[in-house]
Amino acid sequence: MKRLTCQEVLDQLSEYLDDEARAELVGEVDHHLGACVHCRVEVDTLRRTILFYRHDERIVLPTRLSGQLQDALERAYRDGYREDGEA
Ligand SMILES: [Zn+2]
Repeated sequence: MKRLTCQEVLDQLSEYLDDEARAELVGEVDHHLGACVHCRVEVDTLRRTILFYRHDERIVLPTRLSGQLQDALERAYRDGYREDGEA
């Protein structure tokens, strides 16, 4: 299995958090997260943010989020409405 650097993990977070993420990528990132507290916190924070964003569109995104992560949030928000109406 390929060993990812922190930067590679962060670069691919939006893909990793996508429901359709490749199993290979998920495995690589999970492996990294198992050994890296920093990235684990980052993923945790992003997951929670996506959850909030799905449930309340008025929430203002932290400005430090990169454009790529905002794209992921918007995608998750749209998917949430389309796929799980009762959420
Ligand atoms: Zn890391």
